[in-house]
Amino acid sequence: MTDKPIIALVAHDEKKDALVEFAINHQKTLIEYDIIATGTTGGRVAKACPKLNVRAMKSGPLGGDQQIGGMIADGKVNMLIFFIDPLTPMPHDVDVKALMRLAVLYDIPMALNRATAEELLEKDI
Ligand code: PGA
Repeated sequence: MTDKPIIALVAHDEKKDALVEFAINHQKTLIEYDIIATGTTGGRVAKACPKLNVRAMKSGPLGGDQQIGGMIADGKVNMLIFFIDPLTPMPHDVDVKALMRLAVLYDIPMALNRATAEELLEKDI
């Protein structure tokens, strides 16, 4: 990690392709940030965008979402882009709620879909 602001990227289930595509399309902006991500999401983004500085946590089901939540609680995360998958059953429901709750509590910009993520990146927070 550097002293750049930190964006957290998480994509659940079938939303991983959408988040990788988002990262590819916004590489020029994302390069201004350090990126933390859950394991599988981070691995896929790093492979698709080798110039980005991506630190992959554990995979979400193994605690990666909660590692990111801990960093939010420590004041280290400047923005959360969290592509939840509304068309799958709710195995990640507790993780979704926990991460959203902390983002609300610590008042960090949070996007749950692509349109909002694009708005946040354009504002260059
Ligand atoms: P993953 O974690 O990126 O490691 O798949 C996200 C998730 O909770 O599914």
